[in-house]
Amino acid sequence: CGIIGIVGKSAVQGRLIESLKRLEYRGYDSAGIAGHMDGRIERRRAAGKLRNLEEVIAAEPLAAEVGIGHTRWATHGAPTEGNAHPHAAGRVTLVHNGIIENFAELKAELTAKGRTFASETDTEVVAHLLDEHLETLPPIEAMKATLGRLTGAYAIVALIEGEHGLMLGARHGPPLVVGYGKGEMYLGSDALAVGPFTNRVAYLEDGDFVALTHDGAQIFDAAGAPVSRQVQTVAASV
Ligand code: GLU
Repeated sequence: CGIIGIVGKSAVQGRLIESLKRLEYRGYDSAGIAGHMDGRIERRRAAGKLRNLEEVIAAEPLAAEVGIGHTRWATHGAPTEGNAHPHAAGRVTLVHNGIIENFAELKAELTAKGRTFASETDTEVVAHLLDEHLETLPPIEAMKATLGRLTGAYAIVALIEGEHGLMLGARHGPPLVVGYGKGEMYLGSDALAVGPFTNRVAYLEDGDFVALTHDGAQIFDAAGAPVSRQVQTVAASV
């Protein structure tokens, strides 16, 4: 339902929560964050209000400078901690807004290959597909191949273990905004999400996918061709 991603140069835990609070107006039933920590990607998730997630984090902080956050409005699978985003498979940890219409057939295909699922969500198939493609392809090509398998509506933001300064995003339906900072970059489900960090944003167009690093964004259209999307300055009050 709500998404934030920060490729930061300082701690992101508090900033991810701050941004998720700005997205509360959309409604949600659970929430979670994830980030690169000591060479691994760790997650913190909780059912219910952000206050519950904040308690989890207080007990077990997420010391990350690159991270993602999500507020979930369940469409597939009950609003439990186990179904809360981010979802993980192998090297991949990601968040998703929307619905993967063909998730049942993808799940059957991946299960037949020996992959096991930890949630009841439609989202988890995306993590497995991306992880599978990363076995043979570099990140941007793996993302493109993954998106080619998906039917439905999605905004997706993904982290890959071993790719510390990289964040992948994609949109097909729900919006996704790229935020431009100083030595930091952001992805958000709307300008409000990145508002505390920057007022310079570019709106991805339908079918676009993006690779963020600390220094900028490489944007591709649905065919995989590099494109540029206009960077706009939004009102400071956002
Ligand atoms: N369909 C996904 C789920 O049920 C994402 C829902 C959302 O947009 O928050 O987990």
